Amino acid sequence: MKTFNVVNATSVSEAQSALAGGKATALAGGTDLISTLKSMCTPNTFETLVNLKTIPNLSYIREEGNLLKIGAMTTLTEIAKSDLVKSKYTALAEAARVVGTPELRNMGTIAGNICQLNRCWYYRGDDNLFSDCLRKRTSGGTCYALAGDNRYHSIFGGVGSCFAVTPSDIAPVLSAFGASIVTNRRTWDVKDFFAVNGEKQVAIANDEIVTEIQIPVPAAGTKSAYRKYALRKAFDFPIVGAAAVITSSGNVTAASIALGGVHNLPRLTNAGNSLVGKAIDDASAIAAGEAAVVGANAMPFTASTTAVGNKYIIQLARAMTKRAVLACK
Ligand SMILES: Cc1cc2nc3c(=O)[nH]c(=O)nc-3n(C[C@H](O)[C@H](O)[C@H](O)COP(=O)(O)OP(=O)(O)OC[C@H]3O[C@@H](n4cnc5c(N)ncnc54)[C@H](O)[C@@H]3O)c2cc1C
Ligand code: SF4
Repeated sequence: MKTFNVVNATSVSEAQSALAGGKATALAGGTDLISTLKSMCTPNTFETLVNLKTIPNLSYIREEGNLLKIGAMTTLTEIAKSDLVKSKYTALAEAARVVGTPELRNMGTIAGNICQLNRCWYYRGDDNLFSDCLRKRTSGGTCYALAGDNRYHSIFGGVGSCFAVTPSDIAPVLSAFGASIVTNRRTWDVKDFFAVNGEKQVAIANDEIVTEIQIPVPAAGTKSAYRKYALRKAFDFPIVGAAAVITSSGNVTAASIALGGVHNLPRLTNAGNSLVGKAIDDASAIAAGEAAVVGANAMPFTASTTAVGNKYIIQLARAMTKRAVLACK
């Protein structure tokens, strides 16, 4: 493993200064970042890690005015266990509770979760074998998933010819809630925050630091849920994660449904619209599942005969959407 320096930042401005220049990167819980440095799967040349966990007052969960505010360094365990989050922002608590293992949730932060790099197995593979992956290069390159085994890749096409999916359990929940992400520079609407940006899946600059997540307090009559399909039940990344936020008064008056694991970015679907005016039942939940996959396409299946392709993800997206909707009944 390449050696690196660590700066234990004591303020956001100190961290910003330490990150300037492109030779440093932010360190939160380190559960994703350290493994990318260890495996040297990315061509980054970071010499310094800027530890954000030493900055005071970046870990909190509180409602203020019409917003739930979560400090960037709040751990997933704290979110999963918060009575406030469990009762009013259930989907967020459910998503935090199914990230990785207890150890990962104790270390992993909400900011690190939404800023984590993609898990494409070519990208994460040995840089000597897959150095042409176009996410690793500033120009040119190829996508190995097009001609290779693409069983974990996008069913909604690829941004910039990359078909890697967002691996975050938290990202689709923030999309469904219409959250904002506050940095040292600005407040991002969630739909602009997630973007393919070189190796990253977030639009922020290298010296931009997420400081807070904000979620509008849900209207009366709102329930939310997160349902995840992963291959290993003990811990694993989502093949599909479905987040539903549904407001009802008898019938559904407003609904928002987002998927993770199906595209480069969390995908806010049209499934929410299909529910408005209806009661939540099997029929409307199945219709929502169908609406969630409109536009989905399995990738060309050109790998070896042992490969399975990614068509199965379309059915899983229907099923997880249905389950998330029914959980809001
Ligand atoms: C075995 C294993 C299983 C996992 N399973 C899951 C899973 O099921 N679901 C899931 O969602 N994730 C999973 N993860 C990924 C990861 O552990 C979590 O997403 C965790 O929340 C990452 O948070 P962290 O604080 O450790 O981030 P770090 O590793 O410290 O950072 C991740 C990235 O975010 C950037 N970053 C961190 N904080 C900030 C900030 N405040 N501002 C700007 N950039 C920042 C870092 O520079 C880095 O690029 C898994 C990881 C492993 C190793
Ligand atoms: S899907 Fe993206 S990260 Fe994976 S090989 Fe293709 S370009 Fe690289």
